[in-house]
Order: sequence, then C-alpha cells, then structure tokens
Amino acid sequence: MSIDPDLSDADPTGQDLSALDPNGPDLTGPLARECEYITYFPVNIRPLTPADLTARPTDGSAGFGIYLHVPLCDQICPFCNYNKFLSGTRPDRLGGLLEQEIALYGNVVAPHIDRADFVYFGGGTPSVLSAARIGSLLARLRERFDLTAAEVCLECHPAHATPEYLSALREAGVNRISFGVQSFDARMLTAIGSHHTAEESAACVPAARRAGFDNVAVDLMFLLPGQDMDSWSADLDRAVCTGADHISAYRMLLDPMGPLGRGIRLGRTVPQAGEATEVRMAQTALDTLAAAGYRHYGSCSSAGFDLCLPGRESVYELRHRAAPQCEYAAIGPGAVGFLNGSVYWNIHTLGEYARTVGGGALPVLAGRRLTDSDRRSRYAVLGVKHIELPLAPFRERFGRTLREAFPDTLDLLAASGLTEESEDILRVTPRGVHYMDTISKAFFNADNHRLPQPYKPELQMMSVDLHGSPA
Ligand code: SF4
Repeated sequence: MSIDPDLSDADPTGQDLSALDPNGPDLTGPLARECEYITYFPVNIRPLTPADLTARPTDGSAGFGIYLHVPLCDQICPFCNYNKFLSGTRPDRLGGLLEQEIALYGNVVAPHIDRADFVYFGGGTPSVLSAARIGSLLARLRERFDLTAAEVCLECHPAHATPEYLSALREAGVNRISFGVQSFDARMLTAIGSHHTAEESAACVPAARRAGFDNVAVDLMFLLPGQDMDSWSADLDRAVCTGADHISAYRMLLDPMGPLGRGIRLGRTVPQAGEATEVRMAQTALDTLAAAGYRHYGSCSSAGFDLCLPGRESVYELRHRAAPQCEYAAIGPGAVGFLNGSVYWNIHTLGEYARTVGGGALPVLAGRRLTDSDRRSRYAVLGVKHIELPLAPFRERFGRTLREAFPDTLDLLAASGLTEESEDILRVTPRGVHYMDTISKAFFNADNHRLPQPYKPELQMMSVDLHGSPA
C-alpha cells in the first residue's frame, strides 16, 4: 500500500527516481517502491483474549524484553499518526494502571523466563511520567525479572529535558535516552507544529550527558513541508555535532486525513517534496552520517534509517526486530507485543484500558497465534530490516533453508538488485535500502498477502465488538 498519494508525482525539483539511482531504473509490479513502515507481522489479525495469550507458553530461547507504551502527550502534533491522547491530569492515573498491568504478567510469562534484555518506554511521550513513577515501574518489573543487564530506554520530549528530570531518570535506572528532536531548524519545527523550540532541540543531548547518560539517541525527520536539501543537511550536521550515540532519520509519513495532511490537501500548507527528493534526502542522511562514523544497521522502512556509533545499536531494535526475533511483553494502551507465539495488540482507548486492567484482566484486544508459515515469513519480513539477515538460525529453526522456503522471492529480489546472498547472509544492497518495505512485503505469506499494517480505527472497532462500547 502506498500511503502518500504524492509519491508517484513528478518531483518539484524536476528530477526523477531513475536519475538518483545509479544501479537501475525505478522498479514496478510486485517490487514497486513502497513506504509503509512495516513494523508488525503477521497483520491478518482477529480478536484475541488473555486466555489465547497464556494457552501455550514458549521457551523464550531467543530472549525476552518489555515494551511499555505511554500514549499521552502534553500537546498533539498535527503530523502524528501514533496512538496518543492529551496528558492533562492523566499521567499519574495511567502510571498506576501500568503498575497494575505489570503485576498481571506474573503468570503469563513462563516462570523460567526471569530476565529481560530490554525495557523500552515508548509513546506518545513517556516523559510525561514523573521520574518517581518510572522508578516505581522499574521496581515492579524487577520483582519479576532480572534487569541487571537490560538496556532501559526512555523516549524523552526535548521540552522535558531539565537537569533535575534527567538526573532523576538516571538514578531510577534508565540507562539510555532517546530524544524526538525532529529538527534543529525553528522554521521546520513551526511548519510541522512541534511543541518544542530549536533551542530545546540543541540543548537536550548535552543536558543528558551532564546527567550521566552515556547512551543518547536523537530522532530526526525529513521531507517536512517546505524543507529543502540545505535545511536537511544542516539538521544532519547539527545532529552529528551533538555527539549523539545513535541517530535515526525518518521520512515524515502523513495521514492524508490527519490535520497536517488535510492542510496540504486543501492548499493551506506547503506540500512535501516528491519521491525523488525523498530518496535524495535519505541518501544524504546515509552518506553524511557514514562519513561521521555512524553505521547503518537498521531500517524501519524504505525511508527510515537507524545509524549508530560502534557498539551503540539499540538493543530494543536489535532484539525485537532483527532475526531471530525475541518475545516481548506489551504493557500500556495500544502497545504491541509478541509473546507465547502470538503477536498481540492491547486496547487502544484509555477508558476501556482502565476498566479492563482495573478489573484484573490483561487488556489484550487483537492479534494472531503464528502458524509455522507466519513464523518463517516473520523471520524475514522483520529480519531484513537489519540489512543482514542471518541464514543459519533460519535453517536450525525451520528445518529448511531460506532459499527452500522462498525460492521465487529470493530470485526476484536478487535479479532486481535489491538483495544479494552469500553462504550465511542475505544482504540488502545499497539500492535495496531505499526499497526496504518492498523487500519485507515480498516475504509476506498467503494469509497476509499485501495486507497493510493494522490501522487504529480498525482496532477501535474491534474494541467495540469485544467490549460493547468505545471509551
Ligand atoms: S509526535 Fe510525539 S509528542 Fe507529538 S503527538 Fe506524536 S507522540 Fe505526541
């Protein structure tokens, strides 16, 4: 599914994709370029209950982690597609419910799984929670899991990065912090309706260093309305200058029905540039960051890149997405997890979530117990996003080679110059990194063929079906 209707339009700069791709023309047919942020698989889901989730505990041999979703924000950004609500007076109440939900996992995770490789606080804006609450949530998790070696990461809004808050987070046990900077350019932050200033963008990484964080990440966005190459290059240079350990660059993917997408459609807002500029911005990010010593080790989409200094890969990204993927518990409204062989989505809406957790039940809403075919596909769909897909673990798990499982797909990808195979690795080529979602989708099995990622309103409708009324 191509989400942005402008993608195939002529680029305002007059360039076309083929001129930007030294290795061949733009692809068509099943390998046409897609940009969908394929984050979850399988996607052909149905209502799921907590009993489904506990039916067959698995061994956790690929590792285990915990994802906590805090879908609250002080203000709502008009470009944002995530599950989020205005924070207002809700953070403390939600924090208490998250603690209750953690307690419900006692018997859901097999007893011998007693340590976690990561704890990830994502959002929304997890930094709306007080440092005391974060500490209390970590204490609850430590009652059940050994976190001694875990990466404990929290997404922090740049406007929340005060010295006191950052120091308190560090003391609470957070050992990695990630800032949604988006841009260092005041004009761009205004254009996208962000609620922090360019000064706060610039100040957050140094503030985290002073608070004792030796592992700091920065997220940038490109293809912002009105953004040109000079502005994007300046943002990349500023990010490098901060000395952040990890830099992610994501193409802004707009919902045409969201506030900013609607503004563009109605001609009230400057449009995004076209696909050729997007690819040029993406390649500039890869080249600039590589020249500064950052290694491209993961891509959440055809235009979303994770790069880091040596040894600073995100454990969360590596463990839950790179193959073989670990299992992880999903805690919080709208969180997605993979546990006991099922991918599952939590209830999105706050009221229904509160009623369910308050009533002593896990807020599991929808998902799918993976079939063997799903498991083989998932290994590759998510695994290729880490550029190098190891082949031996696939053979060990599934009793056949990746080539035996996907002969036509591998031939098609190789013939198009998107991947190359060696004895132990399937590698995404430099051309292929601009087609990451296309490559992922090529591994979808028949049950999920060309289905999009589950969309929030569909899940909310499932909530109505299951629980009677939306919250
Ligand atoms: S971009 Fe971040 S801060 Fe803005 S509404 Fe979305 S989750 Fe909240």
